[in-house]
Order: sequence, then C-alpha cells, then structure tokens
Amino acid sequence: MKMSQLFGRTLRDQPAEADLISHILLLQAGMIHQVSTGVYSYLPLAWKSLKKIESIIREEMDAAGAQEVKLGILQTREIWQKSGRDEIYGPDMLRLKDRRDRELALPPTNEELVTETVKSVVQSYNDLPFILYQIQTKFRDEPRPRGGLIRVREFDMMDAYSFDTDEDGLDINYHQMINAYSKAFARCGIKTVIVDADSGAIGGKDSKEFILLADSGEDTIILCSHCDYAANDEKASFKISDNTPEAVQPLKTIDTPNQTTIEEVSDFLNISTQKTIKTIAYMSDTEIILVSIRGDLEINEVKLKNFLKANELVLANDEDLQKSNLIKGYLSPINKEIKTIVDNSIFKDTNYCAGGNEFGVHFVNAILDRDIIPTAQIDIALAKDGFGCINCSGTLSSKRGIEIGHVFKLGTTYSTSMSANFLNQNGQPTPIMMGCYGIGVGRILAGSIEQYADDKGIVFPKNIAPYQVIIVSLNTDKEEIQKVAIEIYDLLNSNGIETIIDDRNTSAGVKFNDADLLGIPLRIVVSSRNISKNSVEIKTRVSNEEELIPLESVLQKSNQLLSDYL
Ligand SMILES: [Zn+2]
Repeated sequence: MKMSQLFGRTLRDQPAEADLISHILLLQAGMIHQVSTGVYSYLPLAWKSLKKIESIIREEMDAAGAQEVKLGILQTREIWQKSGRDEIYGPDMLRLKDRRDRELALPPTNEELVTETVKSVVQSYNDLPFILYQIQTKFRDEPRPRGGLIRVREFDMMDAYSFDTDEDGLDINYHQMINAYSKAFARCGIKTVIVDADSGAIGGKDSKEFILLADSGEDTIILCSHCDYAANDEKASFKISDNTPEAVQPLKTIDTPNQTTIEEVSDFLNISTQKTIKTIAYMSDTEIILVSIRGDLEINEVKLKNFLKANELVLANDEDLQKSNLIKGYLSPINKEIKTIVDNSIFKDTNYCAGGNEFGVHFVNAILDRDIIPTAQIDIALAKDGFGCINCSGTLSSKRGIEIGHVFKLGTTYSTSMSANFLNQNGQPTPIMMGCYGIGVGRILAGSIEQYADDKGIVFPKNIAPYQVIIVSLNTDKEEIQKVAIEIYDLLNSNGIETIIDDRNTSAGVKFNDADLLGIPLRIVVSSRNISKNSVEIKTRVSNEEELIPLESVLQKSNQLLSDYL
C-alpha cells in the first residue's frame, strides 16, 4: 500500500471528544469513523488489523475442533421471551418491528438462537458433542457508550457454544476453549490474565474472564502476589484474619449520641472497627433485607444479589426503613424479624458492637446466633488491596483491566428453558449440557493500544499490525531515491512482509510522526544521504536508535527484527 493512495487521514492534534487513549489514537490515526453514538466504521488500517485478529481467532477455534457457522441476525423476540432474557436484558437489547408488525430483536449474544438451531438437528447422544462458533456483529444498547471501541452499541464478537451429553464432556470442552483463547491472545501479542468471574446475566455455573491488563480498564481484578489466584472483584474471596475467642458477655445497650458511622462509634467506644458490625438495609426486589458484615469490610453487592437471586437489589430508602421501623445510622438485626444475611467475617465467640435500632443507642456484646440470628451466613465481602489470599499466605493486590474474553459453563439452563433435549443411551430425553464462549474482536484492537501505546502513538504487536513495515521515503523529488524505495517495498512484500510506503510529497517531520502514530513495528528510512552510502536506516517502533544497514541486508535484517518484536 502506498500512503499517497491510502484512504484515511491522520490528524495533527488529538481529537478533543475522546478520553481513552485507544479512542484518541484510533481517531487521530484515521482508522475509525463514528457513525452514531457507540457505532463506528472501520477504515482500511483498522479493518486490516481486525481481520488479522479474526484470522488468529478462527485458526485457534478450528484447531480446537470448533465448527464455524453464521447465524441470522434478525431474530424473533419470541425466542428471547422463551428463555426469560427479554426481560433480563431490558432496554439493553435493541428491538424492532417488521412490516407485518412482528417483533424482532438484534442479538447481544446468541444462546437462544443457537439452542433453537441445535434442537432442530440433535436427536440422540450419537449427535453429540460439538462446538459451534461464529464471528459476527452483536448489538447492545449501552446506556453510556464510551471509550471508542471499548464500550460500543454495535460490535464484532466471536461467540461459541459447546454441546455435550454430560458435565465431564462440558469440562473437556470448557478447558479446550480456555486453551484456544490463551493461544489466540498470545498470538495477538497481548498480555492477559485468566480470572474467576461472576456469571452475570448469562447464567450458569463456572465462568472465567480473560482480562487484558490496562490502567484505563473498567474492570477491577484481584491477584495474589504468591500463587495463581486471580478473580474479578465481583467474585473475589479473601482470607478473613483469625479471631481470638473471647468470653461471652451479656448483651446491653449503650448511649452513643450522634455516633452513626463505624469510625465514629469505634473511636467513641475505643474499640477496633473489627469489633463492630455494620448493617445495611437493601430492597431485594420488593423485600427488605438486612445485611451484616464486620465494620472494617464492605459488602460485595454482586455476591449478595447472586445469593438472593434478585432481579434488582438497591439500598433501602428512608421510606422503606420507616416501614420496617429501622433507624438510619443505628441499624442492626437484633430483635428484628427481618431476613438477615450475615457475612462470614462475623464470628460466634466475639462480643461485637452493633446498632441499637434507636437514635443514639448501640448494642455492645452482641453475639452471633444468640443476639444476631442470620437467615444465612455466607461470603458477601468485597476483596481489596492488601487482604490475605484465600489459597495461600500471599497478599492480594488489585489491578485494572479490560475484559476481552469470557467462558461460561452454562449447564442445562438454556436447554431446559428451550426444551433442547437428546435421547440418552436408555432412550430417555435429557437436556443438552451447554457452554458458551465469547471474544471481543474490537476490544483486542483497542485493548492492545491501551496496553502498549506511548506518547508518540500506537504500538501494534506485529501479528495484528495492519502492516509490519513502513518505508519512509524522503527526498521524493529524486527519482533515484524513489526507485530504491519501491525496490525495497516490492522485495519485502514479495517475501511475505506486509509493507506500506510513505511516498507522500510532505515533510520528513510529518512522515516520522505518522509512522510513530500508526504504530507499524518496523520503520525503514530511504534518503539521499543514506543511499549515497548504499544504505538505509532501520528501527523498530519501540527503539529510539536507528541502525544504518547495507541495502542488500534489508530483507534479512527486517525478518530478524520482526521475529524478536512483540
Ligand atoms: Zn495466593
């Protein structure tokens, strides 16, 4: 490709409308064009890069034995109502009507349609197992599209689905997919970690996320410094520090005027926050519940919501509290007949301070199971930096990242709700065991930019860069120089190194800046000064030093530098 003919225009200044670095640079490099909020067109350089990412994913999925399909996009809303997800997705799903007033949906994912498809083919255990996948456009009417290709309303995603007779088969396919993902991401040149994740709206049991580490990421993950424990913060557990058993004292009340926060109460009573109980009232759908946790910890609302199987979980408002005779700032489950969830951080043999359910009053010597009667005691605490690892003696730390892949063990959730059965060896109809798997193609492109970009622009890993080499041809007015530049261009291209040549009649400064901005791994400079020495200058995008090399070694040197590159 010749830059003089390339469709797309680099901008001298960074666009003001963007704040994420990948969004800024993709716009500045002329790679994407905004169609509407959260919808982008990919221009030639971005599309070239995305097609490479797709090819890598396709090759690894094929190698894992998955079969590629292409499902229809315009789906009936009916199949979403059947699975119950029409309601769960709510306004996030784009819906429309056809000319006959039939209700349709644009899929955010395809569990429903693929289950319907498979159901029409699979009859007996002989027809299983298999994995289907596709790379296709998905839609999500995000309330706040942001960050260019990171959170969009229309996006390309690889979605795969496995179908098995039993859990052992599902386990094999699940690990097969984890393996294929790891290989694909490594080939894309991006650094990811696999973390335990919450299953969210998709449902199901085990799930893992592949997180691309980047400070700009929306996801927080918790990692152990010592072992391989890693989890999304929505799911992460930690070791509750050991407790020294105490002699149990009788429950009594104590005046605590105007002391409503945990810090105020613990200061006032001169006790550690670990000996206080924080109680928070929530509305779990229409029911009020109390949640108690050790004073120094915070509630993980995702864990809580999952345990309650609630569609909606919000903090109780003043009116809700009043109805149940609860006093803000002095809440506790003591002497209250309200459903109470207690975190595992509360021990039986400790005298705690808890809210007195009266203005300016707290209980002291509150004892679990004597004064606080839980409906359930589970882990609902939020893991944080510095907490102890659940699996070893290491310390947890938190990092930011972008989710680029997700694997789920769905089990029989969808096959049951959509009656997708097979006949087992005894001739009994049995629900098909399912897994589902997704990779955000555009997120890999944007994520790689977030991970590697520097103050000069994009730094593409070699396998997903639109071109591996950029030839910067200076002195474009001199025919001899142009001739040599084109010879190198032809030589590299004919040897399988995709090369773009900057043959524009513009200044050296602009060409160097654009070569950096576009993030092409290798830059070769052809100029009068070098050609007089029968040489060219070569450097990688991440190095600051040009090397003067003889013309005849250009191919060999390019191959060598590229093989060592990201
Ligand atoms: Zn550990």
